[in-house]
Amino acid sequence: MTLERGVTVEPGVANLDYFDPQIETLPRDKLKELQQFRLLGLLPYAYERSGLIRQVWDAAGVHPSQITSLADYVAKAPFIDKDAIRAFRDANDDPCGGIRIADYTEIPHVGFTSGTTGDPTPVPNGKGSAIEAEILREFWHVGGRPGDYITYLMFTFRGGISRTSFLGDAGFTPITAPHDPAILPLIVDAIEQYRPTVLYMLSTPMMMGLEAYFEKSAKDPRNVFKSIKGAVFGGEPMSPRFKALAKSWGLEIFDYTTFGDVTGAMECREHNGFHGWEDLALAECLDANGNEVADGEVGELVVTALTDQWAPLIRFRTGDLVKFDRSPCPCGRTHLRFWTLGRMGDQTLVQGVSVLPRDIQGIVEQQPETRAALFQIIRPQAEMEVLRLRVGYDAATGNPAGLAKRLTDSVTAALKVPCEVELVPNEELLKLGPPQKIPRVTKQ
Ligand SMILES: [Zn+2]
Repeated sequence: MTLERGVTVEPGVANLDYFDPQIETLPRDKLKELQQFRLLGLLPYAYERSGLIRQVWDAAGVHPSQITSLADYVAKAPFIDKDAIRAFRDANDDPCGGIRIADYTEIPHVGFTSGTTGDPTPVPNGKGSAIEAEILREFWHVGGRPGDYITYLMFTFRGGISRTSFLGDAGFTPITAPHDPAILPLIVDAIEQYRPTVLYMLSTPMMMGLEAYFEKSAKDPRNVFKSIKGAVFGGEPMSPRFKALAKSWGLEIFDYTTFGDVTGAMECREHNGFHGWEDLALAECLDANGNEVADGEVGELVVTALTDQWAPLIRFRTGDLVKFDRSPCPCGRTHLRFWTLGRMGDQTLVQGVSVLPRDIQGIVEQQPETRAALFQIIRPQAEMEVLRLRVGYDAATGNPAGLAKRLTDSVTAALKVPCEVELVPNEELLKLGPPQKIPRVTKQ
Protein backbone atom coordinates (compact mmCIF):
# COMPACT_ATOMS: atom_id res chain seq x y z
CA MET A 1 0.00 0.00 0.00
CA THR A 2 1.28 3.47 -0.82
CA LEU A 3 0.92 6.11 1.88
CA GLU A 4 2.59 8.80 -0.16
CA ARG A 5 4.88 8.65 -3.13
CA GLY A 6 8.05 6.92 -2.05
CA VAL A 7 6.70 5.45 1.19
CA THR A 8 5.11 2.03 1.12
CA VAL A 9 3.98 -0.31 3.87
CA GLU A 10 2.79 -3.89 3.90
CA PRO A 11 -0.97 -4.35 3.61
CA GLY A 12 -2.42 -4.84 7.09
CA VAL A 13 -5.52 -6.56 8.37
CA ALA A 14 -8.39 -4.42 9.64
CA ASN A 15 -7.75 -3.58 13.27
CA LEU A 16 -10.49 -1.88 15.23
CA ASP A 17 -8.12 -0.95 18.06
CA TYR A 18 -6.92 2.08 16.13
CA PHE A 19 -8.52 4.88 14.16
CA ASP A 20 -5.66 4.77 11.67
CA PRO A 21 -4.03 1.37 12.25
CA GLN A 22 -1.29 1.62 9.65
CA ILE A 23 -0.07 5.03 10.74
CA GLU A 24 -0.46 4.43 14.49
CA THR A 25 1.57 1.22 14.37
CA LEU A 26 3.99 2.16 11.59
CA PRO A 27 7.42 0.62 12.31
CA ARG A 28 10.00 3.20 13.29
CA ASP A 29 12.09 2.88 10.13
CA LYS A 30 8.99 3.54 8.02
CA LEU A 31 8.02 6.39 10.28
CA LYS A 32 11.41 8.01 9.69
CA GLU A 33 11.04 7.49 5.95
CA LEU A 34 7.68 9.22 6.05
CA GLN A 35 9.06 12.08 8.14
CA GLN A 36 11.94 12.62 5.76
CA PHE A 37 9.67 12.56 2.74
CA ARG A 38 7.30 15.11 4.25
CA LEU A 39 10.10 17.32 5.59
CA LEU A 40 11.99 17.53 2.31
CA GLY A 41 8.77 18.44 0.53
CA LEU A 42 7.94 21.13 3.06
CA LEU A 43 11.27 22.93 3.47
CA PRO A 44 11.64 24.60 0.04
CA TYR A 45 8.01 25.67 0.15
CA ALA A 46 8.32 27.10 3.68
CA TYR A 47 11.58 28.88 2.82
CA GLU A 48 9.96 30.41 -0.24
CA ARG A 49 6.82 31.61 1.50
CA SER A 50 7.47 32.04 5.24
CA GLY A 51 9.03 35.42 5.98
CA LEU A 52 10.41 34.29 9.32
CA ILE A 53 11.94 31.05 8.04
CA ARG A 54 13.63 32.80 5.13
CA GLN A 55 15.02 35.47 7.47
CA VAL A 56 16.32 32.96 10.03
CA TRP A 57 17.75 30.52 7.47
CA ASP A 58 19.41 33.29 5.47
CA ALA A 59 20.98 34.65 8.67
CA ALA A 60 22.30 31.15 9.43
CA GLY A 61 23.60 30.72 5.88
CA VAL A 62 21.52 27.59 5.32
CA HIS A 63 19.40 26.86 2.24
CA PRO A 64 16.87 24.01 1.87
CA SER A 65 18.86 22.68 -1.11
CA GLN A 66 21.63 21.76 1.36
CA ILE A 67 19.27 19.46 3.23
CA THR A 68 18.70 16.06 1.70
CA SER A 69 18.01 13.91 4.78
CA LEU A 70 16.76 14.01 8.36
CA ALA A 71 20.40 13.87 9.47
CA ASP A 72 21.21 17.00 7.42
CA TYR A 73 18.24 18.75 8.94
CA VAL A 74 19.16 18.15 12.58
CA ALA A 75 22.78 19.05 11.81
CA LYS A 76 22.10 22.30 9.96
CA ALA A 77 18.62 23.75 10.39
CA PRO A 78 18.43 26.87 12.59
CA PHE A 79 15.85 27.22 15.36
CA ILE A 80 12.91 29.55 15.87
CA ASP A 81 11.05 30.23 19.11
CA LYS A 82 8.09 32.23 20.40
CA ASP A 83 10.22 35.36 20.83
CA ALA A 84 11.33 35.21 17.19
CA ILE A 85 7.71 34.86 16.05
CA ARG A 86 6.58 37.78 18.21
CA ALA A 87 9.52 39.96 17.12
CA PHE A 88 8.76 39.27 13.45
CA ARG A 89 5.10 40.00 14.07
CA ASP A 90 5.84 43.36 15.67
CA ALA A 91 8.54 44.41 13.19
CA ASN A 92 6.53 43.49 10.10
CA ASP A 93 2.96 44.14 11.25
CA ASP A 94 2.26 40.48 10.48
CA PRO A 95 -0.33 38.93 12.82
CA CYS A 96 0.96 35.43 12.05
CA GLY A 97 4.54 36.28 12.99
CA GLY A 98 6.01 35.38 9.61
CA ILE A 99 5.12 31.69 9.72
CA ARG A 100 2.11 31.82 7.37
CA ILE A 101 2.84 30.15 4.04
CA ALA A 102 -0.65 29.97 2.52
CA ASP A 103 -2.24 32.92 0.74
CA TYR A 104 -5.01 34.52 2.74
CA THR A 105 -7.49 33.31 0.11
CA GLU A 106 -6.47 29.72 0.83
CA ILE A 107 -7.05 29.92 4.59
CA PRO A 108 -10.42 28.51 5.61
CA HIS A 109 -10.12 29.09 9.34
CA VAL A 110 -8.08 30.98 11.90
CA GLY A 111 -7.60 29.60 15.42
CA PHE A 112 -5.39 30.88 18.23
CA THR A 113 -2.58 29.54 20.35
CA SER A 114 -3.55 28.91 23.95
CA GLY A 115 -1.87 32.04 25.32
CA THR A 116 0.00 30.18 28.05
CA THR A 117 3.12 32.29 27.82
CA GLY A 118 1.82 35.55 26.40
CA ASP A 119 -0.83 36.95 24.12
CA PRO A 120 -2.51 34.29 21.95
CA THR A 121 -1.27 34.25 18.35
CA PRO A 122 -3.66 33.76 15.44
CA VAL A 123 -2.94 30.52 13.59
CA PRO A 124 -4.29 29.80 10.09
CA ASN A 125 -5.73 26.35 9.76
CA GLY A 126 -7.88 24.20 7.53
CA LYS A 127 -9.48 20.88 6.74
CA GLY A 128 -7.25 17.91 7.48
CA SER A 129 -5.03 19.80 9.91
CA ALA A 130 -2.73 17.91 12.25
CA ILE A 131 -4.93 18.56 15.26
CA GLU A 132 -7.95 17.12 13.49
CA ALA A 133 -6.07 13.91 12.69
CA GLU A 134 -4.77 13.77 16.24
CA ILE A 135 -8.13 14.29 17.95
CA LEU A 136 -9.81 11.58 15.88
CA ARG A 137 -7.12 9.06 16.88
CA GLU A 138 -7.55 10.00 20.56
CA PHE A 139 -11.36 9.82 20.54
CA TRP A 140 -11.22 6.41 18.90
CA HIS A 141 -8.69 5.20 21.46
CA VAL A 142 -10.88 6.41 24.34
CA GLY A 143 -13.71 4.33 22.90
CA GLY A 144 -15.70 6.76 20.76
CA ARG A 145 -17.12 5.26 17.57
CA PRO A 146 -19.06 6.62 14.59
CA GLY A 147 -22.64 7.22 15.63
CA ASP A 148 -21.66 8.38 19.12
CA TYR A 149 -22.32 11.71 20.73
CA ILE A 150 -19.24 13.32 22.24
CA THR A 151 -18.82 16.51 24.28
CA TYR A 152 -16.49 19.10 22.81
CA LEU A 153 -15.80 21.82 25.37
CA MET A 154 -12.70 23.28 23.82
CA PHE A 155 -10.67 26.28 24.88
CA THR A 156 -8.51 28.23 22.49
CA PHE A 157 -5.93 26.05 20.87
CA ARG A 158 -4.17 25.87 17.58
CA GLY A 159 -7.05 24.10 15.88
CA GLY A 160 -9.59 26.60 17.08
CA ILE A 161 -12.78 26.14 19.02
CA SER A 162 -15.41 26.58 16.37
CA ARG A 163 -14.23 24.09 13.78
CA THR A 164 -15.97 20.77 14.41
CA SER A 165 -17.00 19.59 10.92
CA PHE A 166 -14.20 17.01 10.99
CA LEU A 167 -15.94 15.31 13.90
CA GLY A 168 -19.15 15.08 11.92
CA ASP A 169 -17.26 13.78 8.88
CA ALA A 170 -15.89 10.97 11.09
CA GLY A 171 -19.39 10.05 12.25
CA PHE A 172 -19.38 11.72 15.67
CA THR A 173 -22.06 14.14 16.80
CA PRO A 174 -20.35 16.79 18.92
CA ILE A 175 -22.15 18.51 21.77
CA THR A 176 -20.28 21.80 21.69
CA ALA A 177 -20.19 24.45 24.39
CA PRO A 178 -17.71 27.09 25.53
CA HIS A 179 -15.11 26.03 28.06
CA ASP A 180 -16.96 27.80 30.86
CA PRO A 181 -17.85 26.36 34.29
CA ALA A 182 -20.93 28.63 34.38
CA ILE A 183 -22.73 26.41 31.87
CA LEU A 184 -21.91 23.09 33.52
CA PRO A 185 -25.55 22.52 34.63
CA LEU A 186 -26.58 22.62 30.96
CA ILE A 187 -23.75 20.30 30.01
CA VAL A 188 -24.76 17.80 32.72
CA ASP A 189 -28.33 17.88 31.35
CA ALA A 190 -27.02 17.28 27.83
CA ILE A 191 -24.87 14.37 29.01
CA GLU A 192 -27.88 12.75 30.68
CA GLN A 193 -30.00 13.26 27.61
CA TYR A 194 -27.62 12.32 24.79
CA ARG A 195 -25.30 9.90 26.60
CA PRO A 196 -21.99 10.85 24.93
CA THR A 197 -19.07 8.43 25.11
CA VAL A 198 -16.19 10.94 25.21
CA LEU A 199 -15.88 13.89 27.60
CA TYR A 200 -13.54 16.42 25.99
CA MET A 201 -12.29 18.27 27.84
CA LEU A 202 -11.93 18.93 31.52
CA SER A 203 -9.56 21.41 33.21
CA THR A 204 -8.95 22.73 36.72
CA PRO A 205 -11.77 25.34 36.50
CA MET A 206 -14.18 22.73 35.07
CA MET A 207 -13.32 20.25 37.84
CA MET A 208 -13.90 22.98 40.45
CA GLY A 209 -17.26 23.71 38.84
CA LEU A 210 -18.30 20.05 38.70
CA GLU A 211 -17.26 19.45 42.30
CA ALA A 212 -19.33 22.41 43.50
CA TYR A 213 -22.24 21.32 41.31
CA PHE A 214 -22.39 17.76 42.65
CA GLU A 215 -22.07 18.95 46.26
CA LYS A 216 -25.30 20.91 45.84
CA SER A 217 -27.11 18.58 43.45
CA ALA A 218 -29.01 15.41 44.33
CA LYS A 219 -27.59 13.81 41.17
CA ASP A 220 -25.21 10.88 41.46
CA PRO A 221 -22.13 11.68 39.35
CA ARG A 222 -21.66 7.98 38.60
CA ASN A 223 -25.07 7.94 37.00
CA VAL A 224 -24.49 11.20 35.12
CA PHE A 225 -21.24 9.90 33.64
CA LYS A 226 -22.20 6.26 33.10
CA SER A 227 -21.96 6.47 29.29
CA ILE A 228 -18.54 8.18 29.32
CA LYS A 229 -15.77 5.81 28.24
CA GLY A 230 -13.03 8.35 28.87
CA ALA A 231 -12.64 11.95 30.04
CA VAL A 232 -9.79 14.04 28.68
CA PHE A 233 -8.12 16.54 31.04
CA GLY A 234 -5.90 19.31 29.70
CA GLY A 235 -4.42 22.75 30.26
CA GLU A 236 -1.97 21.69 32.97
CA PRO A 237 -1.10 18.57 35.00
CA MET A 238 -4.19 17.30 36.86
CA SER A 239 -3.85 17.51 40.61
CA PRO A 240 -3.83 14.19 42.52
CA ARG A 241 -6.96 15.19 44.44
CA PHE A 242 -8.93 15.97 41.28
CA LYS A 243 -7.73 12.71 39.77
CA ALA A 244 -9.08 10.78 42.75
CA LEU A 245 -12.33 12.75 42.63
CA ALA A 246 -12.86 12.01 38.92
CA LYS A 247 -12.20 8.33 39.62
CA SER A 248 -14.83 8.36 42.37
CA TRP A 249 -17.28 9.66 39.74
CA GLY A 250 -16.51 6.64 37.58
CA LEU A 251 -14.41 8.58 35.05
CA GLU A 252 -11.24 7.22 33.49
CA ILE A 253 -9.09 10.31 32.99
CA PHE A 254 -6.81 10.68 29.99
CA ASP A 255 -4.25 13.43 30.52
CA TYR A 256 -3.76 15.73 27.57
CA THR A 257 -1.12 18.26 26.70
CA THR A 258 0.31 20.12 23.75
CA PHE A 259 2.82 18.53 21.41
CA GLY A 260 4.82 21.69 20.93
CA ASP A 261 1.84 23.63 19.55
CA VAL A 262 1.68 21.38 16.47
CA THR A 263 -1.06 19.12 17.83
CA GLY A 264 -2.33 17.94 21.18
CA ALA A 265 -1.02 14.73 22.73
CA MET A 266 -2.90 12.32 24.97
CA GLU A 267 -2.07 9.39 27.21
CA CYS A 268 -3.17 5.98 26.04
CA ARG A 269 -4.86 3.40 28.27
CA GLU A 270 -1.47 2.48 29.69
CA HIS A 271 -1.43 5.96 31.32
CA ASN A 272 2.31 6.09 31.02
CA GLY A 273 3.34 9.12 28.97
CA PHE A 274 1.78 11.21 26.20
CA HIS A 275 1.86 9.84 22.65
CA GLY A 276 3.41 12.35 20.25
CA TRP A 277 2.30 11.65 16.68
CA GLU A 278 5.48 11.51 14.66
CA ASP A 279 3.84 11.42 11.25
CA LEU A 280 2.47 14.89 12.05
CA ALA A 281 5.50 16.38 13.80
CA LEU A 282 9.21 15.72 13.84
CA ALA A 283 10.11 15.92 17.53
CA GLU A 284 13.55 16.37 19.04
CA CYS A 285 14.65 16.42 22.68
CA LEU A 286 17.68 18.71 22.88
CA ASP A 287 20.07 20.14 25.45
CA ALA A 288 20.84 23.85 25.76
CA ASN A 289 23.47 23.57 23.01
CA GLY A 290 21.04 22.00 20.55
CA ASN A 291 22.44 18.48 20.89
CA GLU A 292 20.12 15.51 21.11
CA VAL A 293 19.75 13.94 24.56
CA ALA A 294 19.15 10.20 25.01
CA ASP A 295 15.71 8.76 25.70
CA GLY A 296 14.93 9.06 29.41
CA GLU A 297 16.99 12.22 29.86
CA VAL A 298 15.51 15.69 30.24
CA GLY A 299 15.74 18.11 27.36
CA GLU A 300 13.78 20.80 25.55
CA LEU A 301 11.04 19.72 23.14
CA VAL A 302 11.76 21.02 19.63
CA VAL A 303 9.14 20.39 16.93
CA THR A 304 8.71 20.67 13.20
CA ALA A 305 5.20 20.47 11.77
CA LEU A 306 5.19 17.99 8.91
CA THR A 307 1.69 18.33 7.49
CA ASP A 308 0.78 21.98 8.09
CA GLN A 309 -0.01 23.69 4.78
CA TRP A 310 -0.92 26.98 6.39
CA ALA A 311 1.61 28.06 9.05
CA PRO A 312 4.16 25.33 9.84
CA LEU A 313 6.51 25.63 12.80
CA ILE A 314 9.97 24.74 11.52
CA ARG A 315 12.41 23.60 14.22
CA PHE A 316 10.51 25.42 16.94
CA ARG A 317 12.05 25.52 20.41
CA THR A 318 9.02 25.09 22.64
CA GLY A 319 10.53 25.89 26.05
CA ASP A 320 8.90 22.68 27.38
CA LEU A 321 11.11 20.35 29.40
CA VAL A 322 10.39 16.75 28.44
CA LYS A 323 11.67 13.19 28.45
CA PHE A 324 11.20 10.83 25.47
CA ASP A 325 10.73 7.08 25.15
CA ARG A 326 10.80 5.85 21.55
CA SER A 327 10.34 2.15 22.34
CA PRO A 328 7.00 0.66 21.22
CA CYS A 329 4.21 1.13 23.75
CA PRO A 330 2.25 -1.84 25.13
CA CYS A 331 -0.84 -0.28 23.51
CA GLY A 332 0.65 -1.23 20.14
CA ARG A 333 1.42 2.27 18.92
CA THR A 334 4.94 2.90 17.73
CA HIS A 335 4.97 6.70 18.07
CA LEU A 336 7.09 8.15 20.85
CA ARG A 337 5.86 8.74 24.36
CA PHE A 338 6.92 11.80 26.29
CA TRP A 339 6.60 13.17 29.81
CA THR A 340 6.42 16.87 30.62
CA LEU A 341 8.40 18.29 33.52
CA GLY A 342 7.38 21.93 33.22
CA ARG A 343 8.31 24.99 31.24
CA MET A 344 11.94 26.05 31.21
CA GLY A 345 11.04 29.57 32.29
CA ASP A 346 8.93 28.37 35.22
CA GLN A 347 11.80 27.11 37.34
CA THR A 348 12.39 29.32 40.38
CA LEU A 349 15.50 29.06 42.54
CA VAL A 350 14.76 29.79 46.20
CA GLN A 351 18.02 30.00 48.12
CA GLY A 352 19.43 27.73 45.44
CA VAL A 353 16.61 25.15 45.67
CA SER A 354 14.74 24.52 42.40
CA VAL A 355 10.96 24.94 42.73
CA LEU A 356 8.48 24.15 39.94
CA PRO A 357 4.70 24.71 40.10
CA ARG A 358 4.06 20.97 40.22
CA ASP A 359 6.00 20.81 43.53
CA ILE A 360 3.40 23.07 45.14
CA GLN A 361 0.15 21.71 43.72
CA GLY A 362 -0.10 18.66 45.98
CA ILE A 363 0.67 20.68 49.11
CA VAL A 364 -1.84 23.47 48.52
CA GLU A 365 -4.73 21.14 47.70
CA GLN A 366 -4.49 19.46 51.12
CA GLN A 367 -6.09 22.41 52.93
CA PRO A 368 -9.90 22.38 52.62
CA GLU A 369 -10.12 26.09 51.75
CA THR A 370 -7.52 25.76 48.97
CA ARG A 371 -8.45 22.30 47.68
CA ALA A 372 -8.71 23.58 44.08
CA ALA A 373 -4.92 24.17 44.15
CA LEU A 374 -5.21 27.53 42.45
CA PHE A 375 -1.91 29.27 43.09
CA GLN A 376 0.79 31.34 41.49
CA ILE A 377 4.48 31.67 42.19
CA ILE A 378 5.22 35.41 42.37
CA ARG A 379 8.69 35.80 41.01
CA PRO A 380 10.11 39.16 39.94
CA GLN A 381 13.37 37.35 39.10
CA ALA A 382 14.36 33.71 38.66
CA GLU A 383 16.36 33.59 41.91
CA MET A 384 14.63 34.45 45.19
CA GLU A 385 15.43 34.34 48.90
CA VAL A 386 11.82 33.60 49.88
CA LEU A 387 9.22 31.62 47.92
CA ARG A 388 6.25 33.95 47.38
CA LEU A 389 2.89 32.36 46.62
CA ARG A 390 -0.49 33.82 45.75
CA VAL A 391 -3.07 31.20 46.67
CA GLY A 392 -6.75 31.12 45.81
CA TYR A 393 -9.16 30.09 48.55
CA ASP A 394 -12.85 29.34 48.74
CA ALA A 395 -14.36 32.41 50.40
CA ALA A 396 -17.50 30.40 51.20
CA THR A 397 -15.60 28.20 53.65
CA GLY A 398 -15.60 30.94 56.29
CA ASN A 399 -12.78 32.77 58.01
CA PRO A 400 -9.39 32.22 56.38
CA ALA A 401 -7.59 33.16 59.62
CA GLY A 402 -4.77 30.75 60.19
CA LEU A 403 -4.93 29.45 56.63
CA ALA A 404 -1.90 31.43 55.44
CA LYS A 405 0.15 30.06 58.33
CA ARG A 406 -0.97 26.48 57.70
CA LEU A 407 0.00 26.83 54.04
CA THR A 408 3.32 28.50 54.82
CA ASP A 409 4.22 25.83 57.36
CA SER A 410 3.34 22.93 55.07
CA VAL A 411 5.19 24.38 52.06
CA THR A 412 8.28 25.09 54.15
CA ALA A 413 8.18 21.63 55.70
CA ALA A 414 7.91 19.93 52.30
CA LEU A 415 10.26 22.03 50.18
CA LYS A 416 12.69 23.25 52.90
CA VAL A 417 12.51 26.87 51.76
CA PRO A 418 11.03 29.94 53.47
CA CYS A 419 7.65 30.91 52.11
CA GLU A 420 5.19 33.83 52.15
CA VAL A 421 1.53 33.39 51.20
CA GLU A 422 -0.93 35.99 49.92
CA LEU A 423 -4.55 34.80 49.92
CA VAL A 424 -7.00 35.78 47.17
CA PRO A 425 -10.54 34.49 46.60
CA ASN A 426 -10.63 31.79 43.89
CA GLU A 427 -12.97 33.85 41.71
CA GLU A 428 -10.45 36.71 41.60
CA LEU A 429 -7.57 34.44 40.71
CA LEU A 430 -9.50 32.70 37.92
CA LYS A 431 -9.97 36.07 36.22
CA LEU A 432 -6.23 36.17 35.53
CA GLY A 433 -6.19 33.24 33.14
CA PRO A 434 -7.53 31.93 29.89
CA PRO A 435 -10.58 29.73 30.60
CA GLN A 436 -8.70 26.51 31.26
CA LYS A 437 -6.06 27.63 33.77
CA ILE A 438 -4.23 30.51 35.42
CA PRO A 439 -0.57 31.45 34.87
CA ARG A 440 1.38 29.45 37.45
CA VAL A 441 4.36 31.82 37.46
CA THR A 442 3.97 35.59 37.46
CA LYS A 443 6.31 38.54 37.83
CA GLN A 444 4.04 40.43 40.22
ZN1 LIG B 1 0.42 3.69 24.27
